[in-house]
Amino acid sequence: MDRIDFRSDTVSWPTPAMRQAMANAPIGDDVYGEDPTVNKLEALAAEMVGKEAGLFVASGTMGNLAAILAHGRRGDGATVGNDSHTFRAEAGGMAVLGGIVPNPLPTDLYGRMDLAAVEAAVYPDDPHYPNNRLILVENSYGAKGGYPIEPDYFQQIRHIADQNGLIVHMDGARLFNAAVALNLNPKEITQHVDSVTFCLSKGLCAPVGSVLCGSAEFIQQARRARKLVGGAMRQAGVMAAAGIVALTEMVERLADDHAHAKMLAERLAEMPSLIVQPELVKTNMLYFELAESAPVTPKQFVRRLRDEANIWLSDGYSRRFRAVTHYWIQEADVALFVRTARAILQVEGRCLTR
Ligand SMILES: *Cc1c(COP(=O)(O)O)cnc(C)c1O
Repeated sequence: MDRIDFRSDTVSWPTPAMRQAMANAPIGDDVYGEDPTVNKLEALAAEMVGKEAGLFVASGTMGNLAAILAHGRRGDGATVGNDSHTFRAEAGGMAVLGGIVPNPLPTDLYGRMDLAAVEAAVYPDDPHYPNNRLILVENSYGAKGGYPIEPDYFQQIRHIADQNGLIVHMDGARLFNAAVALNLNPKEITQHVDSVTFCLSKGLCAPVGSVLCGSAEFIQQARRARKLVGGAMRQAGVMAAAGIVALTEMVERLADDHAHAKMLAERLAEMPSLIVQPELVKTNMLYFELAESAPVTPKQFVRRLRDEANIWLSDGYSRRFRAVTHYWIQEADVALFVRTARAILQVEGRCLTR
């Protein structure tokens, strides 16, 4: 990549192995079910998360939407974190296109809804209320610094769902980051949910796509929902080929991204002008805040990182920043970020990093 881009892991480019696989992929018309590369990706993805079937979709947003449309009907209710991606950052798709009524609940420091609140959110059987239908969970939890939530939380969510006849869908956009950080097989997390979406782009570096996984019957419904929103693709094997490389070659190495994020958080925490909690950094993401006492404004901070070191951070409209690590960010890039930040923030003394 031509820049050191910490804005998101979505900016990651496909690897040379992916470009190669894309060029050589056997393809067919996937709407006829005839693209062997798409079929292979869907089977591989389903196997990795312990589900019967998979569906290749254009984005995580489309995967979550297709899941919700397949699981629910107009007037159904969905309990969901009030800072979750599905509730806050998917254009309200569940309500706009599905007529699903979200019931947003606050989440804790790690992105977990209070279990008693989830239970209390089950509506009484009464015509005043939406139908009880869905619980939507997310792992890792983006709004909480990509925190990887332990499976026992999902087991308890599962229990509440089973007691009340509800379905659980997981937005696992960064499921593999969570699994690697927790040192678990992803199945240990996804065994507690009925369906899961995860991104092949982001940290896994594929240029496009996510996979939605669940039971064969559910995936058949989700395939219809994907068609409904215009997401059925034809020779999609060109993209699925990169997804296969993502799942076979790019998962284990996410640990490097996590180490880089941790390193960055620890070094930034040494600077008096920055407020960081390195202990919360478990995956490839960190939030930090520019203190009021800093010698620069947020906009100046962002501009100088860009001008002086070609390091890219998002906006600078508030004092709070997010930095995300990925395959195209090396340890030397983290060190450059630290050195440049120290210079901009006029931190005195010996630089502890190379
Ligand atoms: C990125 C992301 C998605 C899906 O985003 P797309 O850009 O539509 O692929 C969903 N949930 C979370 C938590 C995400 O970070």
